Amino acid sequence: MDSKKLFEESNRYLMNTYSRYPLALRKGRGIRVWSSDGKEYLDFVGGVAVNILGHCHPKVVVALQKQAQRLIHVSNYFHIEPQIKLAKLLVEHSFADRVFFCNSGAEAIEAAIKLTRKFAKEKMNPARFEILTALNSFHGRTLAAVTATAQEKFHKGFEPLVPGFRYVPFNDIDALKGAVTRETCAVLLEPIQGEGGVNIPDENYLKAVRELCNENNLLLILDEVQTGMGRTGKLFAYEHYGITPDIMTVAKGLGGGVPIGAMLATERVSESFQPGNHASTFGGNPLVCAAGVATLDTILEDGFLLDHCNRMSSYFIERLEHLHAAFPNLIQEVRGKGLLIGMELTGEGGPVVTACLEKGMLINCTAVNVLRFLPPLTVQQKDIDKLIEVLNRIFMKV
Ligand SMILES: *Cc1c(COP(=O)(O)O)cnc(C)c1O
Repeated sequence: MDSKKLFEESNRYLMNTYSRYPLALRKGRGIRVWSSDGKEYLDFVGGVAVNILGHCHPKVVVALQKQAQRLIHVSNYFHIEPQIKLAKLLVEHSFADRVFFCNSGAEAIEAAIKLTRKFAKEKMNPARFEILTALNSFHGRTLAAVTATAQEKFHKGFEPLVPGFRYVPFNDIDALKGAVTRETCAVLLEPIQGEGGVNIPDENYLKAVRELCNENNLLLILDEVQTGMGRTGKLFAYEHYGITPDIMTVAKGLGGGVPIGAMLATERVSESFQPGNHASTFGGNPLVCAAGVATLDTILEDGFLLDHCNRMSSYFIERLEHLHAAFPNLIQEVRGKGLLIGMELTGEGGPVVTACLEKGMLINCTAVNVLRFLPPLTVQQKDIDKLIEVLNRIFMKV
């Protein structure tokens, strides 16, 4: 189908929930993607942090092919081998003792909220149900997840929201302390805010949050949907901060491109979920879990990929800092951890994204003026060089 017809039918048949670029992608390999009319792009959006190993990584493709021939789906009434394998891998490489599988980030957040409420009712006090979350956070679009998301623009039109959430400024331990009441049972945070503009907390913030939670007998829930699976240079971002949460959500990178989410927790907290309490028809099905095992195995192999991610991160940030120095009037700040990198502009980022697209570079802008780069962990120096060259040319013309 030619592109014009594709866009027409897209606008005709799909609900109008996304504003899309006039571009349809039909093939990908590594960091490269090709449009329906054959043009090549470097993809620094990576399916918004999903394609952690790049597009169509051979190990993920083979795992999917093999599993698709063997068994695609069975119900959670039965034991599922790839699901058990993936859970074991996640437990062996994290703080957690148990895993619940679902299909997306928002669903993982829903599971975390439900587990928290049940735990609080049973082990704390039935009056404690309030969860504190951070301003500018993002936790997904289902009704509870969007309520947890402390950004008005996502709430508008969908009230009444779910009761039991209150918001505090991110990276402000005193504000958090002041907000804890007798009803509070948990704190839910992204270790680094992704959609909110790549906001990295002070070195000691999460440690102070952990201590506050311990002192007040609150659960700490970390949303690692975007930061997990090696994105920040460690398998999970909490590892940077010398703490562990009680509950963690992951999704995006977990399946190397297939829809899968997971909620992980300690044994103590997991005990509150018993048969019948929570479920998902598709959650943890054989096909997606086979992809998850292949993805996690590849990330963990000799730590090679995480080392590479950290080297590319330093290089990328250094190159962006050069741009910052060259265009101090256009660029406000460069910040990032691993390959979750933001460049805050002094003006809106939208036109830069469009200009990049015209020059064969896919990038993203979040929080209005923050260019966000989420390349696969396999990104190479020469890919980064090409992007920097394009950005340089764009900024020269402004
Ligand atoms: C993307 C994201 C979500 C929502 O994930 P979906 O799969 O879109 O439901 C939740 N939390 C964080 C931190 C995210 O980045």
